[in-house]
Amino acid sequence: MNNRVEMRTIDPNIRNKNFEEVALGYSNEEALLEASRCLNCKAKPCVKGCPVNIDIPGFISKIKENNINEAYNIISKSSLLPAICGRVCPQENQCEKYCVRGVKSLPVAIGRLERYVADNNTCTTKFDIIKNNIKVAVIGSGPAGLSCASELAIMGYDVCVFEALHVAGGVLVYGIPEFRLPKDIVQKEINKLIAMGVKIQTNTVIGKTLTFDDLYEEGYKAIFIGSGAGLPKFMNIPGENLKGVYSANEYLTRINLMKAYLNDSQTPIMKPKNVAVVGGGNVAMDAARCAKRMGADNVYIIYRRSMSELPARKEEVEHAIEEGIEFVLLTNPVEIIGDENKFVDKIRCIKMELGAPDESGRRRPIEVPNSEYDIKVEAVIMALGTSPNPLIKNSTKNLEVQRWGGIVVDEQTFATSIEGVYAGGDAVTGSATVILAMGAGKSAAKSIDDYLKNKF
Ligand code: FAD
Ligand code: SF4
Repeated sequence: MNNRVEMRTIDPNIRNKNFEEVALGYSNEEALLEASRCLNCKAKPCVKGCPVNIDIPGFISKIKENNINEAYNIISKSSLLPAICGRVCPQENQCEKYCVRGVKSLPVAIGRLERYVADNNTCTTKFDIIKNNIKVAVIGSGPAGLSCASELAIMGYDVCVFEALHVAGGVLVYGIPEFRLPKDIVQKEINKLIAMGVKIQTNTVIGKTLTFDDLYEEGYKAIFIGSGAGLPKFMNIPGENLKGVYSANEYLTRINLMKAYLNDSQTPIMKPKNVAVVGGGNVAMDAARCAKRMGADNVYIIYRRSMSELPARKEEVEHAIEEGIEFVLLTNPVEIIGDENKFVDKIRCIKMELGAPDESGRRRPIEVPNSEYDIKVEAVIMALGTSPNPLIKNSTKNLEVQRWGGIVVDEQTFATSIEGVYAGGDAVTGSATVILAMGAGKSAAKSIDDYLKNKF
């Protein structure tokens, strides 16, 4: 049984015109077949690759018995967001990277099996919660905040999650598009937290609507900061203030959170025929695939290194290629040129070649002299990474941050420079992954528990 069971997807020429989910999930038969590939290794190397330590062979052995509810209960002991992780985690760099099946063939499709269990179980995992009436505030409702909140709620704390936006979920709702992660799936996972007693207060910006002092006055005894890294970066090249230049964050928020893709949406968005997306990560792939679905004929991913250095997940790159996204590699923009009304008209690029490796270990891109050329586009989407928003730092005394804005924490405990305040996820690491944010939230919850137990 060496062959991994592939997951069915919607035809690329149909799916690139709508926002329906691309990957269809396993059928029962497919899940049983894929589960049968797991060797139930004693040493469980796959578990070591999972930042939240799911008992992977344990849940897969329950799939083999066709006991999906028990498989779900096993996953739920470690992760409250399996339907999300099963869809968007970079398993190829985590659990699946360590799977022994991967030595001679492809690893067991752990993520797809996790998704199968999350989508097909019929049970509600029950937790015996003994309330201790100690209040903890969680700032931000992304994966870091949600996992911290759920762990604390299970331990008995009275948890309130404060979220700046009008909907909970962080990047899961405002960034990752519907066709990769349907929003009703995210809501279903969040409902599990609400059922545990976690309160979610939306439309509340900590640092503006409420300060840390307000939270202490309201009786909160500890704070977890999971405010993410939502501040976009630009290239600082001429023309970035033209009409038609978006940050990927703004573009994706308009489409995903504000539903600009629906026919009756009131959210303004440009729908140009030719679009350039600058960058090579998951965010760039999402922006490009959204632009295609919004009606563009030509969508170009402009990336300064080559295909083998693209940081995006392999599966997302393959899907983008299938959907007709063009990759303009070893190329970097130098200027965006507008028409007489200050709308984007073209993007001027320069060709690059790869030199010696830089400090990141990747080969450094170097400009090829006199190789500039123009690409006709009416919109440019900058997907160059993000950094933490300085609002919380600027409104809070003694919160130590790195020069680039990441909150400084103790690596073991996630404690910040302020007693009783912890932080994790993208707010600490900069733009990373859902599962790393969840792992940080979970570990920070344990430290908060230790701190509060000693204190009260
Ligand atoms: P976030 O998800 O950013 O959540 C932070 C929340 O805090 C937000 O809701 C924000 O509104 C709120 N907030 C901020 N400031 C305040 C404040 N002052 N007061 C109250 N609330 C506040 N990762 C993967 O693993 N796989 C993928 O396929 C993937 N694709 C991605 C695609 C896109 C477009 C983007 C942008 C990211 C993607 N990532 C992916 C990365 C992943 O989503 C993030 O690493 C993860 O969401 C970080 O979680 P977080 O909880 O730290 O922050
Ligand atoms: Fe199964 Fe692979 Fe984990 Fe072994 S390493 S238990 S084969 S998933």
